[in-house]
Amino acid sequence: MACGYDNCGIIAPEDLTGSKERLQERMGKVPSSAAIYGGMRIYEPVKDRFPWAKSIIVLTAEHGKYRYPPELRGRYAKAFFLSPEEGHTDSFDHVQFERWLTEHHIRWDGVDAVPLRYAAMKAGLGIIRRNNFFYTERGSFVSLTAYIVDCECTLYQQTNIRPCSEACTLCRKACKTGALCDAYTMDPSRCVSFWTTFGKGNIPGFLEESMFEEWICGCDNCQDACPYNRKHNWDEGDSFSNLEEIAAKLVPEKLLEQTDTFIEQQIIPKTADHLMPGDSAVLRHSAERAVRNRKIQLIEKNTPGQR
Ligand code: SF4
Ligand code: SF4
Repeated sequence: MACGYDNCGIIAPEDLTGSKERLQERMGKVPSSAAIYGGMRIYEPVKDRFPWAKSIIVLTAEHGKYRYPPELRGRYAKAFFLSPEEGHTDSFDHVQFERWLTEHHIRWDGVDAVPLRYAAMKAGLGIIRRNNFFYTERGSFVSLTAYIVDCECTLYQQTNIRPCSEACTLCRKACKTGALCDAYTMDPSRCVSFWTTFGKGNIPGFLEESMFEEWICGCDNCQDACPYNRKHNWDEGDSFSNLEEIAAKLVPEKLLEQTDTFIEQQIIPKTADHLMPGDSAVLRHSAERAVRNRKIQLIEKNTPGQR
Protein backbone atom coordinates (compact mmCIF):
# COMPACT_ATOMS: atom_id res chain seq x y z
CA MET A 1 0.00 0.00 0.00
CA ALA A 2 2.90 2.36 0.75
CA CYS A 3 3.91 2.00 -2.90
CA GLY A 4 0.52 3.26 -4.07
CA TYR A 5 -1.36 0.00 -4.60
CA ASP A 6 -4.94 -0.36 -3.34
CA ASN A 7 -5.13 -4.04 -2.53
CA CYS A 8 -3.06 -7.19 -2.55
CA GLY A 9 -3.55 -10.93 -2.57
CA ILE A 10 -0.96 -13.72 -2.53
CA ILE A 11 -1.56 -17.10 -4.16
CA ALA A 12 0.35 -20.35 -4.71
CA PRO A 13 1.71 -21.15 -8.22
CA GLU A 14 -0.67 -24.14 -8.35
CA ASP A 15 -3.64 -21.77 -8.11
CA LEU A 16 -3.05 -20.86 -11.77
CA THR A 17 -3.45 -24.44 -12.99
CA GLY A 18 -6.92 -23.82 -14.44
CA SER A 19 -5.89 -20.76 -16.49
CA LYS A 20 -4.66 -22.73 -19.50
CA GLU A 21 -7.89 -24.73 -19.67
CA ARG A 22 -9.83 -21.48 -19.64
CA LEU A 23 -7.69 -20.10 -22.45
CA GLN A 24 -8.21 -23.24 -24.52
CA GLU A 25 -11.97 -22.97 -23.99
CA ARG A 26 -11.74 -19.37 -25.17
CA MET A 27 -9.70 -20.28 -28.25
CA GLY A 28 -12.14 -23.10 -28.99
CA LYS A 29 -14.91 -20.51 -29.33
CA VAL A 30 -12.79 -18.30 -31.63
CA PRO A 31 -10.23 -20.59 -33.35
CA SER A 32 -8.58 -17.69 -35.20
CA SER A 33 -7.54 -16.21 -31.82
CA ALA A 34 -5.12 -19.13 -31.36
CA ALA A 35 -2.69 -17.26 -33.63
CA ILE A 36 -2.46 -14.52 -30.97
CA TYR A 37 -3.06 -16.34 -27.69
CA GLY A 38 -1.71 -19.81 -28.56
CA GLY A 39 1.97 -19.04 -28.07
CA MET A 40 1.60 -17.10 -24.83
CA ARG A 41 4.09 -18.48 -22.31
CA ILE A 42 2.29 -16.93 -19.33
CA TYR A 43 -0.22 -19.79 -19.41
CA GLU A 44 2.49 -22.46 -19.01
CA PRO A 45 2.92 -23.79 -15.46
CA VAL A 46 4.77 -21.26 -13.30
CA LYS A 47 7.03 -23.92 -11.77
CA ASP A 48 8.22 -25.00 -15.26
CA ARG A 49 9.35 -21.48 -16.01
CA PHE A 50 10.43 -20.40 -12.51
CA PRO A 51 11.46 -23.55 -10.58
CA TRP A 52 12.22 -21.38 -7.52
CA ALA A 53 8.69 -19.91 -7.38
CA LYS A 54 6.80 -20.33 -4.12
CA SER A 55 4.10 -17.63 -4.25
CA ILE A 56 2.60 -15.00 -6.50
CA ILE A 57 1.80 -11.52 -5.20
CA VAL A 58 -1.06 -9.81 -7.04
CA LEU A 59 -1.54 -6.04 -6.66
CA THR A 60 -4.38 -3.78 -7.73
CA ALA A 61 -4.38 -0.02 -8.34
CA GLU A 62 -7.73 1.59 -9.11
CA HIS A 63 -7.85 3.97 -12.10
CA GLY A 64 -11.19 5.26 -10.83
CA LYS A 65 -9.45 7.40 -8.18
CA TYR A 66 -8.63 9.85 -10.94
CA ARG A 67 -10.57 12.24 -13.14
CA TYR A 68 -10.49 11.47 -16.84
CA PRO A 69 -10.73 14.54 -19.09
CA PRO A 70 -13.87 14.59 -21.28
CA GLU A 71 -11.69 15.29 -24.35
CA LEU A 72 -10.12 11.83 -23.96
CA ARG A 73 -13.31 9.84 -23.33
CA GLY A 74 -14.48 7.81 -26.31
CA ARG A 75 -11.06 8.36 -27.91
CA TYR A 76 -8.28 7.00 -25.68
CA ALA A 77 -8.61 3.92 -23.45
CA LYS A 78 -8.68 4.88 -19.78
CA ALA A 79 -6.56 1.91 -18.69
CA PHE A 80 -3.70 3.10 -20.92
CA PHE A 81 -3.77 6.80 -20.09
CA LEU A 82 -4.34 6.32 -16.33
CA SER A 83 -1.35 3.97 -15.97
CA PRO A 84 1.92 5.50 -14.78
CA GLU A 85 4.45 6.16 -17.49
CA GLU A 86 7.84 4.47 -17.22
CA GLY A 87 9.93 6.46 -14.74
CA HIS A 88 6.87 8.22 -13.24
CA THR A 89 5.33 7.39 -9.88
CA ASP A 90 1.74 8.54 -10.49
CA SER A 91 -0.69 6.00 -9.02
CA PHE A 92 1.72 3.23 -7.99
CA ASP A 93 5.50 2.93 -7.87
CA HIS A 94 6.56 -0.52 -9.02
CA VAL A 95 10.24 0.38 -8.79
CA GLN A 96 9.89 1.15 -5.08
CA PHE A 97 8.06 -2.13 -4.50
CA GLU A 98 10.69 -4.11 -6.42
CA ARG A 99 13.43 -2.39 -4.41
CA TRP A 100 11.63 -3.42 -1.22
CA LEU A 101 11.53 -7.06 -2.36
CA THR A 102 15.23 -6.99 -3.24
CA GLU A 103 16.22 -5.30 0.03
CA HIS A 104 14.42 -8.08 1.89
CA HIS A 105 16.39 -10.70 -0.08
CA ILE A 106 13.26 -11.92 -1.83
CA ARG A 107 13.89 -13.31 -5.30
CA TRP A 108 11.27 -12.05 -7.73
CA ASP A 109 10.23 -11.87 -11.35
CA GLY A 110 7.45 -9.67 -12.54
CA VAL A 111 6.85 -8.45 -16.03
CA ASP A 112 4.25 -10.47 -17.96
CA ALA A 113 4.95 -13.61 -15.94
CA VAL A 114 1.39 -14.80 -15.23
CA PRO A 115 -2.17 -14.31 -16.57
CA LEU A 116 -3.04 -11.28 -14.46
CA ARG A 117 -6.85 -11.37 -14.50
CA TYR A 118 -6.98 -15.05 -13.61
CA ALA A 119 -4.37 -14.58 -10.84
CA ALA A 120 -6.30 -11.62 -9.39
CA MET A 121 -9.51 -13.65 -9.40
CA LYS A 122 -7.75 -16.54 -7.63
CA ALA A 123 -6.41 -14.10 -5.04
CA GLY A 124 -10.01 -13.17 -4.25
CA LEU A 125 -9.56 -9.55 -5.36
CA GLY A 126 -12.54 -9.64 -7.71
CA ILE A 127 -14.16 -11.55 -10.57
CA ILE A 128 -13.87 -11.83 -14.34
CA ARG A 129 -17.06 -10.74 -16.06
CA ARG A 130 -18.64 -11.79 -19.35
CA ASN A 131 -16.81 -8.98 -21.20
CA ASN A 132 -13.52 -10.69 -20.12
CA PHE A 133 -12.47 -7.82 -17.87
CA PHE A 134 -11.48 -8.20 -14.25
CA TYR A 135 -13.68 -6.29 -11.79
CA THR A 136 -13.09 -5.28 -8.20
CA GLU A 137 -16.00 -3.97 -6.16
CA ARG A 138 -15.36 -0.60 -7.84
CA GLY A 139 -15.52 -1.83 -11.43
CA SER A 140 -13.16 -2.87 -14.20
CA PHE A 141 -10.90 0.16 -14.43
CA VAL A 142 -8.11 -1.27 -12.35
CA SER A 143 -4.45 -1.91 -13.01
CA LEU A 144 -3.12 -5.37 -12.17
CA THR A 145 0.49 -6.26 -11.38
CA ALA A 146 1.92 -9.59 -10.25
CA TYR A 147 5.24 -10.79 -8.89
CA ILE A 148 6.47 -14.35 -8.61
CA VAL A 149 8.51 -14.64 -5.39
CA ASP A 150 10.54 -17.33 -3.64
CA CYS A 151 8.81 -16.87 -0.25
CA GLU A 152 6.09 -19.18 0.89
CA CYS A 153 3.10 -17.07 1.89
CA THR A 154 -0.57 -16.70 1.02
CA LEU A 155 -3.16 -13.97 1.39
CA TYR A 156 -6.57 -14.82 -0.03
CA GLN A 157 -8.94 -11.88 -0.03
CA GLN A 158 -12.73 -12.01 -0.14
CA THR A 159 -15.12 -9.80 -2.03
CA ASN A 160 -18.86 -9.74 -2.26
CA ILE A 161 -19.42 -9.06 -5.96
CA ARG A 162 -22.57 -10.04 -7.83
CA PRO A 163 -21.81 -12.04 -10.97
CA CYS A 164 -23.17 -11.01 -14.38
CA SER A 165 -26.76 -11.80 -15.15
CA GLU A 166 -26.97 -14.53 -17.81
CA ALA A 167 -29.49 -12.33 -19.58
CA CYS A 168 -27.24 -9.26 -19.81
CA THR A 169 -25.87 -8.47 -23.27
CA LEU A 170 -25.08 -4.77 -22.80
CA CYS A 171 -21.35 -5.17 -23.34
CA ARG A 172 -21.86 -7.25 -26.49
CA LYS A 173 -24.31 -4.76 -27.91
CA ALA A 174 -21.85 -1.92 -27.22
CA CYS A 175 -19.11 -3.66 -29.20
CA LYS A 176 -19.59 -2.15 -32.66
CA THR A 177 -17.27 -4.57 -34.48
CA GLY A 178 -18.73 -7.78 -33.05
CA ALA A 179 -15.40 -8.67 -31.39
CA LEU A 180 -17.27 -9.60 -28.22
CA CYS A 181 -18.87 -12.50 -30.00
CA ASP A 182 -19.71 -14.60 -26.93
CA ALA A 183 -19.49 -14.40 -23.16
CA TYR A 184 -15.99 -14.89 -21.73
CA THR A 185 -14.33 -14.73 -25.11
CA MET A 186 -13.32 -12.20 -27.72
CA ASP A 187 -12.18 -12.17 -31.33
CA PRO A 188 -9.02 -10.03 -31.31
CA SER A 189 -9.09 -9.77 -35.11
CA ARG A 190 -12.25 -7.64 -34.76
CA CYS A 191 -11.23 -5.58 -31.72
CA VAL A 192 -10.85 -1.81 -32.07
CA SER A 193 -8.32 -1.81 -29.28
CA PHE A 194 -6.11 -4.22 -31.20
CA TRP A 195 -6.31 -2.38 -34.53
CA THR A 196 -5.62 1.05 -33.06
CA THR A 197 -2.51 -0.23 -31.23
CA PHE A 198 -0.65 -3.40 -32.21
CA GLY A 199 -2.51 -3.39 -35.55
CA LYS A 200 -0.90 0.01 -36.26
CA GLY A 201 -4.11 1.87 -37.04
CA ASN A 202 -5.06 -0.19 -40.10
CA ILE A 203 -8.54 -1.56 -40.58
CA PRO A 204 -9.01 -4.98 -42.16
CA GLY A 205 -11.45 -5.24 -45.07
CA PHE A 206 -14.07 -7.12 -43.06
CA LEU A 207 -14.57 -4.15 -40.69
CA GLU A 208 -16.12 -0.80 -41.54
CA GLU A 209 -14.40 2.46 -40.71
CA SER A 210 -17.53 3.79 -39.00
CA MET A 211 -17.33 0.98 -36.41
CA PHE A 212 -14.25 2.67 -34.99
CA GLU A 213 -16.24 5.79 -34.06
CA GLU A 214 -13.76 8.32 -32.61
CA TRP A 215 -11.43 5.80 -30.97
CA ILE A 216 -7.80 6.80 -31.53
CA CYS A 217 -5.97 4.49 -29.12
CA GLY A 218 -7.80 1.56 -27.52
CA CYS A 219 -11.54 1.20 -26.91
CA ASP A 220 -13.63 1.22 -23.73
CA ASN A 221 -17.08 0.53 -25.19
CA CYS A 222 -17.60 -2.90 -23.63
CA GLN A 223 -16.54 -1.60 -20.21
CA ASP A 224 -18.36 1.73 -20.35
CA ALA A 225 -21.65 0.02 -21.20
CA CYS A 226 -21.48 -2.29 -18.19
CA PRO A 227 -23.85 -1.51 -15.30
CA TYR A 228 -21.03 -2.29 -12.87
CA ASN A 229 -19.02 0.63 -14.29
CA ARG A 230 -21.73 3.04 -15.25
CA LYS A 231 -22.25 4.64 -11.87
CA HIS A 232 -18.66 5.88 -11.88
CA ASN A 233 -18.30 9.62 -12.46
CA TRP A 234 -15.08 10.39 -14.38
CA ASP A 235 -15.40 14.11 -13.52
CA GLU A 236 -14.60 13.25 -9.90
CA GLY A 237 -11.35 12.27 -8.21
CA ASP A 238 -7.75 13.45 -8.31
CA SER A 239 -6.05 14.78 -11.40
CA PHE A 240 -3.69 12.32 -13.04
CA SER A 241 -0.25 13.27 -14.30
CA ASN A 242 -0.50 16.11 -16.87
CA LEU A 243 -3.60 14.72 -18.62
CA GLU A 244 -5.75 17.79 -17.97
CA GLU A 245 -3.02 20.15 -19.22
CA ILE A 246 -2.65 18.40 -22.57
CA ALA A 247 -6.19 17.05 -23.08
CA ALA A 248 -7.26 19.86 -25.43
CA LYS A 249 -4.36 18.98 -27.75
CA LEU A 250 -5.53 15.37 -27.98
CA VAL A 251 -8.93 15.91 -29.60
CA PRO A 252 -8.64 14.50 -33.15
CA GLU A 253 -8.41 17.81 -35.06
CA LYS A 254 -5.84 19.23 -32.63
CA LEU A 255 -3.80 16.04 -32.53
CA LEU A 256 -3.29 16.35 -36.28
CA GLU A 257 -1.67 19.76 -35.69
CA GLN A 258 0.86 18.48 -33.12
CA THR A 259 4.50 17.83 -33.97
CA ASP A 260 5.96 14.35 -34.05
CA THR A 261 8.13 15.37 -31.09
CA PHE A 262 5.04 16.22 -28.99
CA ILE A 263 3.32 12.98 -29.94
CA GLU A 264 6.42 10.91 -29.23
CA GLN A 265 7.19 12.60 -25.92
CA GLN A 266 3.73 13.32 -24.55
CA ILE A 267 1.32 10.76 -25.99
CA ILE A 268 3.05 7.51 -26.90
CA PRO A 269 4.53 7.04 -23.38
CA LYS A 270 0.95 7.19 -22.06
CA THR A 271 -0.21 4.20 -24.11
CA ALA A 272 1.11 1.62 -21.63
CA ASP A 273 3.43 0.05 -24.24
CA HIS A 274 0.61 -0.40 -26.77
CA LEU A 275 2.33 2.01 -29.17
CA MET A 276 6.07 2.35 -29.64
CA PRO A 277 8.41 5.30 -30.28
CA GLY A 278 8.04 6.07 -33.96
CA ASP A 279 4.31 5.28 -34.00
CA SER A 280 3.19 8.91 -34.33
CA ALA A 281 1.86 8.13 -37.85
CA VAL A 282 -0.40 5.46 -36.31
CA LEU A 283 -2.02 8.05 -34.04
CA ARG A 284 -2.38 10.54 -36.88
CA HIS A 285 -3.99 7.89 -39.07
CA SER A 286 -6.53 7.05 -36.34
CA ALA A 287 -7.16 10.74 -35.65
CA GLU A 288 -7.95 11.35 -39.32
CA ARG A 289 -10.48 8.51 -39.21
CA ALA A 290 -11.99 9.92 -36.02
CA VAL A 291 -12.48 13.30 -37.73
CA ARG A 292 -14.20 11.62 -40.69
CA ASN A 293 -16.44 9.54 -38.43
CA ARG A 294 -17.48 12.55 -36.37
CA LYS A 295 -18.45 14.47 -39.54
CA ILE A 296 -20.59 11.52 -40.69
CA GLN A 297 -22.22 11.25 -37.26
CA LEU A 298 -23.05 14.97 -37.32
CA ILE A 299 -24.58 14.69 -40.79
CA GLU A 300 -26.65 11.69 -39.67
CA LYS A 301 -27.78 13.53 -36.56
CA ASN A 302 -28.86 16.59 -38.54
CA THR A 303 -30.47 14.69 -41.41
CA PRO A 304 -31.96 11.54 -39.85
CA GLY A 305 -33.02 8.88 -42.36
CA GLN A 306 -31.14 10.54 -45.28
CA ARG A 307 -28.32 7.98 -45.51
S1 SF4 B 1 -12.52 -3.16 -26.63
FE1 SF4 B 1 -14.07 -2.37 -28.06
S2 SF4 B 1 -13.88 -3.57 -29.95
FE2 SF4 B 1 -12.75 -4.66 -28.32
S3 SF4 B 1 -14.21 -6.11 -27.50
FE3 SF4 B 1 -14.45 -4.25 -26.25
S4 SF4 B 1 -16.04 -3.01 -27.26
FE4 SF4 B 1 -15.37 -4.61 -28.71
S1 SF4 C 1 -22.45 -5.56 -19.46
FE1 SF4 C 1 -23.63 -7.19 -18.42
S2 SF4 C 1 -22.82 -9.14 -19.23
FE2 SF4 C 1 -21.38 -7.51 -19.79
S3 SF4 C 1 -19.86 -7.57 -18.18
FE3 SF4 C 1 -21.36 -6.04 -17.57
S4 SF4 C 1 -22.89 -7.13 -16.31
FE4 SF4 C 1 -21.65 -8.66 -17.38
